[in-house]
Parts: sequence; structure tokens; C-alpha cells
Amino acid sequence: MSDQATLSVTMLGAGQEVGRSCCVLQYRGRTIVCDAGVHPAYSGMASLPFIDNLDWSTVDCILITHFHLDHAAALTYITEKTNFKDGKGKVYMTHPTKAVHKFMMQDFARMSSSTSDALFSPMDMEMSIVSIIPVSVHQLINVCPGVSFTPYHAGHVLGACMYLIDIAGLKILYTGDYSREEDRHLVKAELPPLRPDVLIVESTYGVHSLEGRDEKEGRFTNLVHSIIRRGGHVLLPAFALGRAQELLLILDEYWKKHPELHNVPIYYASNLAKKCMAVYQTFIHTMNSNIRTRFAKRDNPFVFKHISNVPSTRGWEKKIAEGPPCVVLASPGFMQVGPSRELLELWAPDARNGLIITGYSIEGTLARDIMTEPEEFTGLKGNTIPRKISVDYISFSAHVDYAQNSEFIQAVKAQHVILVHGEQNTMGRLRAAMTSKYKERDEDVKIHTPRNLETLNLSFRGERVAKAIGTLADKAPQPNDVLSGLLVAKDYSYTLLDPRDLRDFTGLSTCIVTQRQRIVIGVGWDLIRWHLEGMYGKVEEGLHDGVLTMRVMGVLDVKQTAEHELTLEWESSASNDMIADSTLALITGVDKSPASVKLTTTPHSHTHPPEASTNGDSHIHPHQHHPHADPDSEASSVMRIQRLAMFLEAHFGEIELHMPDDDEVPEAAEKGQDEEDAVTSNEPSFIVTLDEAIARIALLSLTVTGNHEPLRKRVEAVLDMALTTVSSLSESFTSGAPVDAAIEEALVEKSKSLSLEAQDGDAAPTTNGDSGTHEGHSEEQAEGSGSSKNAAPTDSGVDDGANENGDASAGVAMDTTEEPSAQAPTSSTPAPSSEAKAETEEASSSTSDEGPAGGATAAEEERPGSDNDEDEDEDDEDDGILEVHA
Ligand SMILES: [Zn+2]
Ligand SMILES: [Zn+2]
Repeated sequence: MSDQATLSVTMLGAGQEVGRSCCVLQYRGRTIVCDAGVHPAYSGMASLPFIDNLDWSTVDCILITHFHLDHAAALTYITEKTNFKDGKGKVYMTHPTKAVHKFMMQDFARMSSSTSDALFSPMDMEMSIVSIIPVSVHQLINVCPGVSFTPYHAGHVLGACMYLIDIAGLKILYTGDYSREEDRHLVKAELPPLRPDVLIVESTYGVHSLEGRDEKEGRFTNLVHSIIRRGGHVLLPAFALGRAQELLLILDEYWKKHPELHNVPIYYASNLAKKCMAVYQTFIHTMNSNIRTRFAKRDNPFVFKHISNVPSTRGWEKKIAEGPPCVVLASPGFMQVGPSRELLELWAPDARNGLIITGYSIEGTLARDIMTEPEEFTGLKGNTIPRKISVDYISFSAHVDYAQNSEFIQAVKAQHVILVHGEQNTMGRLRAAMTSKYKERDEDVKIHTPRNLETLNLSFRGERVAKAIGTLADKAPQPNDVLSGLLVAKDYSYTLLDPRDLRDFTGLSTCIVTQRQRIVIGVGWDLIRWHLEGMYGKVEEGLHDGVLTMRVMGVLDVKQTAEHELTLEWESSASNDMIADSTLALITGVDKSPASVKLTTTPHSHTHPPEASTNGDSHIHPHQHHPHADPDSEASSVMRIQRLAMFLEAHFGEIELHMPDDDEVPEAAEKGQDEEDAVTSNEPSFIVTLDEAIARIALLSLTVTGNHEPLRKRVEAVLDMALTTVSSLSESFTSGAPVDAAIEEALVEKSKSLSLEAQDGDAAPTTNGDSGTHEGHSEEQAEGSGSSKNAAPTDSGVDDGANENGDASAGVAMDTTEEPSAQAPTSSTPAPSSEAKAETEEASSSTSDEGPAGGATAAEEERPGSDNDEDEDEDDEDDGILEVHA
């Protein structure tokens, strides 16, 4: 099996930008969202991702990579303020991320509650946090059928992970922010053990190279030291968590080595960080070996010797700012508001002070703007502040640089790479660099850089494999073998097995639903039978458990369960229910049917039908059968011709029956018609006369001739209609064989052996059937649809010997499909119907119309010698084929 499936990737944020990460993955009806962050440069609603572009109730899960606000802070809004909670979506993050996220969000809520556009209440936050499912790195999580994921270490900050997501077999690696360099406390990002189809990777630094760790640490500590020496204050804006811990570890260690600095305080201005230290100490086991060995030696690296917390009194910033030289790590990192902003405004006018930007600064924030070293900047109160403070940038941000990122991207070996979390130009340069790298090596890797809301559709041609097990696997298959069995699909994996093995291998069992319908009815059993036979042909009548029963089309029992009560009983399936519905409609309409009235009240007589002897008395008597009940009987043929006459009279008024015996000289010849007429004129015929125009219907070949073309055509059309009307359902269902020209050819080419064809015939219901458990029913379904589709024209009169079927109504689907291949099929070219109809019975009695619309006549059988044997084929729109064999 193969099929085409499309993965849709939509960035609701972090598409060609850094901030408000939110990536939506949609595949095979599943929706997974990676990250839900805010944009630090904006506030309120504007800081959210474009959440209105997703129906959050359809989301299966949200995966948060790490606790940074640009990856996690929109989560509360989404879980509490959107219709996410109306769905079945779950939220996952690692244990440390959840622990820190709680503090981060409390801090975020506190910060934003001071402004008027708070996104949510503290209550919302509590609710959101409670619903988060914490997971461990390397743990395989099954979200719902078809969706699973595994987190892998991403470095970056405590608890950060990448997600390797599996949606219906498609593997996607979403990195989030990641680092490939082991720092003082974290492990580096891992390469997942298997190759994903799609890699969604951050591109924060694009093609930039970051300096080596030793080099930048040296530069950092020297810079701090020199600012202190010149009598200045050092401002290190940093986020409370993440890089701050790394910087503190570096400074603590440097101070330890430099006793002359011991009187210089290092302040860590964050209550949040104080709270989170407990989390850091809890999750030491997730950190690198450096930290773990120190911890094992009872030297807890997060118990700093030289770091002091700022006094918790109001206005501490001013106090510190006016005091002696010191180092202050203050949040937030982008200096939009808060302690870091306040300290900057206080220290900016003094040239002795120094500002060191240590992380990646997002566009639109003061941390980014100040790096251009402007003469002045605007304070929070709208005042202009001169900038004399020195500005340096030493990046400790734990993102990959070009070398690390390109190496990682190549190692992952995904066919599609999607760059996110990078500014447009930066991302563009990375894309160009990677593209040329792949081009050099002649590798076909697609690199995408979708913008926000620009949905990227990736098509995957998934070959789906079904495993054959149980009895089906007993014998090793040979090339070109056709295996047929029951296809069981579970969570996007497929198993093919013998229906008998179903319970053993899948724990599933088949069951049969028996439907029962009781009808109260005031008409007699025989009348019911007469109507059923009229509609369905032969019905089997007998006693079942002492109850008078008729079986309709072999599947539906009509039982006389009480005097004025019938019970319909059948095994439920799509086709059987259909039969039951029609039977029910028929039976409930019986007492209103004019035919019933006619049959039960007045003797039926007709002036024109030939030898209508059997119908001289049309009262229903106990064993009178509808002519449809036995399509082969003479009575039935006569009946049908009678009905045909009625039909034609209804359309054309009086018609005449012409018997060849009565008239030596064919009437048609007298009237000077062409020689075609001569062929049919020795058959019994109906003559339709309309003023001067005459049309003749030959009753054996059922061809129409005439001296007036418009009338001839009209008669032909009415005849077609009449033929479809006078045959019963079971006849049309069982004799209309689906013969598709292509199948037919294939079958002939493959083999003429019946066994092979029987096998093919078998395969159809089990693979097509609704559940495959009702093989018999499915067969009928297949058959029914086959005949209604219209088979290719076949020439059924070619070879008597080839027609081995029993009578048409008893033929089953398999037989009828086989027949055309046993016969040499003639692909009859479309012929004008008049020509086809002019053919003699001996040559061919089938008519063909435009192309595939020819009648399906495979089950037709010629029985030389049987008089007036008549087979009809119902074909709704096109020429039905009716053969009458003399
Ligand atoms: Zn981050
Ligand atoms: Zn980020």
C-alpha cells in the first residue's frame, strides 16, 4: 500500500523572528503544538503568538521545551483562556522545567499585573500548572493513538529538552533552544538515536561564530575586574534563571581565586532566583559530571561563597547605586522594566560604570538598542538619560553558533530542515550557507524558513506495509501471489490475517447483529409473497421452527409470527439492511397497492397479450406465484410479454400483436420497409401505429424497426424502460455481472484457470468489505455495485459451450465475473444502437451503445430448444439486454 500524506507546519510565533515560539504540527488528523511563548519586546495580548489561527480544542498535546518566557509564558493563557480545555489536549514538560516554570510564571504574573493588560489571573496560573504532565528525559510517552514522543537533553538551561515526535510513523525532531557546548553545569544537547524525517531547529545565531568558552570567560572576568578597578559598578542584566546560574558559577570561582576582590560584593538581585536555587539543587542529577562530582564531595556548587542577595528593602537599587563598586546580576535580561532597568538608568551617566550584555538580545528591547552605544536613551519616565556607561557584549547565551548548528543539522540527516527562532536575515544567511553545503555534496535536503502563519506543507509518500500473520503466513509467498485476508489497522500499523485468526492475534472478535422488525399487517400471506416475488424474484418458502417463513434474496426472513403480524429478521450489514428497508417499504405498501386490489377483487383480463391463458383468473390462490419467482417458466415469459404490452399501451395507445403463423406475408414487407425488417418479421411482434407511422417490436430479438425514425426511437426508448421495469431485483442483481474491460483482460492474460479467478473473486469482499466479517454479504455488495456501474459490452452469444453457468438467477458473483474470461471477450467497439439492434439473434443478441454503457450480460445463457426462454438484464440507464431464444 502506498499513500500520500501531508505534514503541515504553521508557526504561530518564532517564524523568522526570535520570541513567542509556537509551532503547530498537523499530520493525519493529529495536531501537536511545540512551545507556547511570549514575545519579550511586546506586552499584553500583543506578546502572544497568533493563537487565533488555531482551534485549540483540536490540539492533542502541547510540548514545552524549556522554561524561558519566550517558550512557555503563553501556556497559561492558552490552557485557561482559549477553547483548549474543551478538547482532550495534554501539556507536557520535563520535571525541572515544570518546577522552574511555576516560579517563572509567578514572577511573570507579578510583573504584568502591575500593567493594565494582564493576560491572566494568579488563579489561572495555578490551574494551568496543575494540568501539566511532567516527563523525564528519554522517557517514551504515548499521547494518544498514533502520537508519541521522547524528550532528549538540549543543554541550554536546566531541564531544556528537544522532542522527537512520532505522528503516525512520521518522525519530527523539534530542538527548541539548544547548545552543543558543555558549560559549567549543563550537559550538551544529544543527537537522537534515530533519523527523523523533519528537523525543526533554532537558528538564533545564524552563521555567527561564538568565541570559545575559555576565551570568553577570560575576557568576561578581566572586564569585570577592570571596571571594579576603575571604581565603577558592573551591571549584568540577565534572566533570573538559566544563564545567571552559569555567570554566578564563573564569578564565584574567580572571586575565590582573587582575594583582593573579597570586599567587593556580588549581588544577585532576584527573589525568583533565590526560590529557584532549591530547584537547581534538586535537579543536580540532570546536570553534568562537573557539578555531580562536586556535589558528591559535599561541595554544593549552588551554595555560593561570594554571592549575596540584595536587601529586600524598597529602594535598594538606589542604595547600591550610590555605594562602593560592586557587581550586580539583575533581571530581566532585556532591561525593559524591573531592577536591571532601574540600575541602568542610575548608572548610565557615569563613565566609570560598565554594562555587560551576556545573552542574546531580542530585537526591539533596550538591551539590543544599547548595544549600538547611543549618546542617550529614554528613561521609563520619558526623561532623556545620557549614556556614558561602557557597553560590552560577551555572549554566554547557550545557543549553538554556526559551526555547532550546521554540524548538528548534518548529523541529524533529516530530509527537511525547518529553521525557526531566528531573525529573518540571520536565518536567510544560515539557509544559504547550508544550501550550498548540501549542493556541493549533491544531497537533496530541503531547507525551509516559514514566516509566521505561512503554513508549510510537506508531502510524504508513506509506503504502508501490512504484516501477514497467522495462517496466512504459514506458507512462504511466491512472486505474484495474491494474499487475501482481513486487514486490521491499529494505531497506524496494519496486520493482514485470516478471519479465523482474528481472536487469537488481535483479541478482537467478530459478531453478528441480528435485526428484527415486527409489522402488523392486515393482508394475507399469499399476497405478501406475490409482491415479494414481484420485487425480488424467487423467494424460498418453508417452515422455520414451525413458523411460516419466506427468505428474500437469501438474507432476509419474513416470518408470519402471528395472525396479523409479520416479523422480518436479518443479519445486519450494509447490503442486508438495504434489502430489509426495501422489503419493509414493500410490505407496508401492500394493502395500498393497486395491484393488490386488482389481484384480490376483479378477474384480470387483457385484450392483447398472447395466449394469456394462465391469467384468465387472476385471483390470488394459495399457491399462485408471481412470474418473477421463476424467470425460466413459460408462464413467466408470457406474463412478461403481457406486462410489456401494458407498458407500451400506456404510452402509445392501442397496439397490435402480430404472430408470424397468422400471416404468411410479413406485414412489414407489405409496407415497403427495408430488408432489416425481414429478419425480424418472422418473429412474433408488437406493432405500434401512430397515424401513418409504424414501428415493429420483434419479441424474440427485441429489436425495433419502423418506417418513421422518430417513432422508432421513441418506441425503442419506451421498450428499454419497460424492460428494466418488468424484471425483478434478484434477477438484475445476480445476472448483471460486473465485467470491467481492464479486469477482464488481466484475467485472461493471467490464467484461464478457474481456481485463480475464484481466488481473485474471493479477495474482493475481504479487502473491500465493510468489516470483512460478513463475507457473503460483502460479496453481494461488490456484485451489486458492479452491476450498477455497468460492465463493458460483451458478446454473450458467441459460444454456447463457453456458457457454463447455471441459470442466471442462481449464479453468484464469482461465477459471473469469471465468465467473460472463459469466453474470448470481444471488446466491442461502440456502435450506433440501431445497427446493433439490427443484428440477428444468431450473430449476436447483445446491443451496445456508447462505450462502457453496454449491457452486462455475462450471465446470459442460451438454452437451445427451450421455448420462449427469456432472460432480462436490468440496466438502469442504458440498453438492457434482453434475449429471447426461440
Ligand atoms: Zn531559551
Ligand atoms: Zn528561545
